[in-house]
Amino acid sequence: MTQMIESNERLNAIQEQIAKAAKLAQREAQDVRLIAISKTRSADEIRPLLDTGHRFFGENRVQEAAAKWPALRDEYDDVKVHLVGQLQSNKAEDAVQLFDAIHSLDRPSLVKALAKAMDKLGRRIPCFIQVNIGEESQKGGCAISDLPDLVESADAAGIEVPGLMCVPPSSVNPAPYFALLAKLAKDHGLPRLSMGMSGDFETAIKLGATHIRVGTALFGFRT
Ligand SMILES: *Cc1c(COP(=O)(O)O)cnc(C)c1O
Repeated sequence: MTQMIESNERLNAIQEQIAKAAKLAQREAQDVRLIAISKTRSADEIRPLLDTGHRFFGENRVQEAAAKWPALRDEYDDVKVHLVGQLQSNKAEDAVQLFDAIHSLDRPSLVKALAKAMDKLGRRIPCFIQVNIGEESQKGGCAISDLPDLVESADAAGIEVPGLMCVPPSSVNPAPYFALLAKLAKDHGLPRLSMGMSGDFETAIKLGATHIRVGTALFGFRT
């Protein structure tokens, strides 16, 4: 019970911040989807947030999600789980089965693997294209120069691409990167933007984020 009150307080505080940022940007708060990033959290840590009524969650590993979410989906209705971490092609089928959306489509081989998995399972889920917006070698995401071809091949494969996703370089002002992602999405006629985490979601909202991915601010620090 106290856990649920704590979860509720954290959630309310974030929703207030979302509302403020949206208002400043002359946007509707309801156009910003809060995805609670529950990676590394146990089912017991996640349940209090589910008990508040929150239904949108994100995980970064297929195996971890497979261990937690099927049981939680049995306990709670209408749960949506998004994959926000890198996906290996050989796990595409598991991912299509487990998740309601993917935020990390970043290469042609994955387009192929996901399209094949979706056809086989008869289940189609939207896939954001992740862009390596800071051109960092250690980060996932397609190169900015590869984006036009990737958008086209996803379209040709019948994969719905609602928008773009990025994780900007850490320890620098993320605003120019969010602005660049927004421009790239606009250039391709893509309406959604998955950007903004615990430390920068207000900035992301001001620059057009429609999906923010918040872990620490909702659950506390990861150990
Ligand atoms: C972990 C993670 C987040 C959440 O980060 P916090 O700083 O804990 O809010 C968001 N997006 C991705 C891709 C992540 O891996």
